[in-house]
Amino acid sequence: MSELTLTSLDVAKIREDFPLLTTPFHGKPMHYLDSAVSGQMPGVVIERMAHYQRFEHTNVHRGVSTLSQEATDRFEEAREKVRAFIKAPSVKQIVWTRGTTEAINLVAQSWGRTNLKDGDEILLSAMEHHANIVPWQMLATEKGASIRVIPMDDRGVLDLDALDALLTPRVKVLGITHVSNVLGTVNPLKEIIAKAHAKGVVVVVDGAQAVPHLAVDVVDLDADFYVFSGHKLSGPTGIGVLYGKKELLEAMPPWQGGGNMILSVSWEKTTYMGVPGKFEAGTPPIAEAIGLGAAIDYLNAIGLDRIAAVEHALLDYATAELSNIEGLRIIGTAPGKASVLSFVLEGIHPHDVGSILDHEGVVVRAGHHCAQPVMTRFNIPATTRASFAYFNDKADVDALVAGIQQVKEIFS
Ligand code: PLP
Repeated sequence: MSELTLTSLDVAKIREDFPLLTTPFHGKPMHYLDSAVSGQMPGVVIERMAHYQRFEHTNVHRGVSTLSQEATDRFEEAREKVRAFIKAPSVKQIVWTRGTTEAINLVAQSWGRTNLKDGDEILLSAMEHHANIVPWQMLATEKGASIRVIPMDDRGVLDLDALDALLTPRVKVLGITHVSNVLGTVNPLKEIIAKAHAKGVVVVVDGAQAVPHLAVDVVDLDADFYVFSGHKLSGPTGIGVLYGKKELLEAMPPWQGGGNMILSVSWEKTTYMGVPGKFEAGTPPIAEAIGLGAAIDYLNAIGLDRIAAVEHALLDYATAELSNIEGLRIIGTAPGKASVLSFVLEGIHPHDVGSILDHEGVVVRAGHHCAQPVMTRFNIPATTRASFAYFNDKADVDALVAGIQQVKEIFS
């Protein structure tokens, strides 16, 4: 591993910002290698939300009280932080959701219901999370549409020639992950989106695993929709984002009705707000939106480029170390992958691996990672997955390697 790259971030100092990382776990130092499931929150994010709850809390977009106006200002400032973070042209294109899952359901139910019909096809990649499969299957069943899948090779690289062949006039929408949560593959989105657009296909990007690791520019990507969750981004749960192209969002009907999204209501007729309001029925997660804004400030202060450099150095180190372990197979070896390391150990179930590592203070995820079709593709029931963030260091990887050796001894 390049010491130069690693020292470009003072990881030890960064760790001090995270209450959970500095608290012993099973009486041992905490080695949190599960950021792909949920990123840890730095104290400034937790404190920002607590400050809101203690001193600023009320509802937003309602009433003339100073308190309500100030809460609304903080809430809308967070939207602006998200806009700048993904370089969207306007805050009107940033819709708050509960997370990636809800954002994809919103697109499927609103845009999809309006635009799909019997016989149409929905194209998905072979490495999608269930969140980018199930909403489309529900829509396909309702509309009489069908799902087609872009295959991938044994490294976890999508077959772009197959994509060309699959992009027939029947395809109306392509759902694709930016970064795979199991394999770490970073898909060549610009190329894929350009191919889809050449055939008039709308592209929905699942950015849940990309935003914590890469600087995202939705305009440069030319994504039609781009979605992500706050909790993967050092922010809280319960908040997520749907970015959409202006003309698409404006043409879409609301998907939930209620307060906050209307211009006027009578017994005869309701008229709706414009974007993004018409998609935000009811009281939103206000503290969570403000917390996500604070998380973005925190990440920006470190710098996503520096974060990516450190994570890559750590991934290289971990990959080399794990490759030396006999009987261990890494699942997902695409060039330029992000800092997700899935593996299987010959003859040992990933749940056993995960449990033993847990007792050593090493937190990883074991299971199908909400991507059962990926497990089927690699002919395995599950993997153990270590995922790295900017607060991880060599000691975390060394603890992982020592833990795996211990697992092997127990099962030998
Ligand atoms: N998509 C990907 C690639 C993910 O990794 C996840 C979460 O693990 C999701 C979607 C779902 O995110 P959420 O549960 O926050 O809606």
